Order: sequence, then C-alpha cells, then structure tokens
Amino acid sequence: MATPTYEILALKYAGPLARPAAMVTWFSDLDKIAQINYYIFAIRGERETIVVDCGCAPKLASERNLVGYVNPVDALQRIGIDAGKVKTVVATHIHFDHISGVSLFPRAKFYLQEKEFNFWMGNPIAQRAPFLMVTDPVANRYLARLKGTKRLQLVRGDKKIMPGIELLLAPGHTVGLQVIAVNTKKGIAIVGSDAAHMFSSYRTDIPSAIITDMVAWMKTYDKIRAKASSLDLIFPGHDPALSNAYPQIAEDVSQLV
Ligand SMILES: [Zn+2]
Repeated sequence: MATPTYEILALKYAGPLARPAAMVTWFSDLDKIAQINYYIFAIRGERETIVVDCGCAPKLASERNLVGYVNPVDALQRIGIDAGKVKTVVATHIHFDHISGVSLFPRAKFYLQEKEFNFWMGNPIAQRAPFLMVTDPVANRYLARLKGTKRLQLVRGDKKIMPGIELLLAPGHTVGLQVIAVNTKKGIAIVGSDAAHMFSSYRTDIPSAIITDMVAWMKTYDKIRAKASSLDLIFPGHDPALSNAYPQIAEDVSQLV
C-alpha cells in the first residue's frame, strides 16, 4: 500500500511582533528589527489531523503581552478542529510559545523527546535564568503529572509514529527539540519548528540567538536538509512568510503543502 500523504497548515496565533533581527538570525543585522509570528501547525491526513505544538495559554499570553493573540482553541476552530477532541499532539520543545497551551488539549496524547522532557523536568540547570525566561512552569507541572500515563509518549531519537509521519531528534535550539518529517504530495516536508525561526536559516546556517548547543545545531541542519525532498519543503517556526507567502484557507491559516 502506498504511504499516505498529508497537508500541512500553519495557524498563526499571535503577531506580528517586532524583535531585534539579531534574535531571530544570530549576530546578523545588529541594528535592524524583524517581525515574527507565533504559530501552531496542523498535519492533515485522511484519517486524523495531528496538531504540532500547543501555542500559548491565554493567561500567559496576556502576561507576556502577545500582540494579535488568538486562543489556539479558536484558531483550530477555523479549520473545523475541536481542541478538546484532538488525539495526537507533537510537542516540538518545552518553550512557552510551544507548550504553554498543553491543557487546551485534554484528551490528547503528547509526543515529546525524552531528552527534552528530562532536561526541563529534572535538570537543575533548567531552573537557571536563561532557561526560566523561555519556559512556562504551569505547563511544565501539567506535563510532569502526565508522566507514566498513556497521554505522554517519551520518544528516544527518531521514530515513525504513523505511516508517513516521522519524528526526528533535532537538538541545538534546545536539548531535545524534535521536528516532523511528513510525507506530502510534493515529497518529504519538514515541520521544523524552532530548528529555525526564519526560512533563511536553512540556506545560511545562521540559526536564532536562542542557543543551547551550536555544534549540535549544525548537525541538525545537515540532518534536516538530507531528509527533506527540497529546501522549499523545510518550514521554520516563526517566519511571517508562513502566513504571507502561501494560500490562505481560513482566517490566519495558510496551506504550506
Ligand atoms: Zn518558538
């Protein structure tokens, strides 16, 4: 039987936010400002739609003053997905803009890399300032309570989780970030989350400035580029082009493939 194909949708849930350009492309354009958006992604197949990342919960979004914020639950409604019924969520990493909304998916099974989970839940370094700045303790407590239940699948390295969907360990930005290789009509695409904030990183090797391990990050770029059928099928985590350069199929929802 042929491997099933999927569509990939980007759902913008906040932005545009102005940031120093050097934050999204490391040590570049030191005097410039860049615009970024916040997204969750949907991988839509015949039988199931897999949600990638949880977005930010409403309370933290207002504390962090996320301009243009929409509750991820409402964003998913725009493509007919009820967050309360979502079965599968791939959480790419444990930064607040990707994990804070974890409790918005009360029935979901979450896939996370074991390395990522263990770092944020158990390593005292995760309590130090540079890490605390980018996480959400409320979401982390929720996740910690799921340990040992069927709702939390801790993955060790690369793993096919269903036909046409493979998780790839892709460290650098965080200890155990994962990206998703997806079989599409155009070939293998990568939902890359924050392995790059912007499309340009996959061409220039310059990642964002939020770095855990730069050496690992370069190996991650090699791995992702080798896996994808083309550079155009590697999608970053925060680039406004994800919204602007693709067909809109609903309000602030674009179809990437
Ligand atoms: Zn992010």
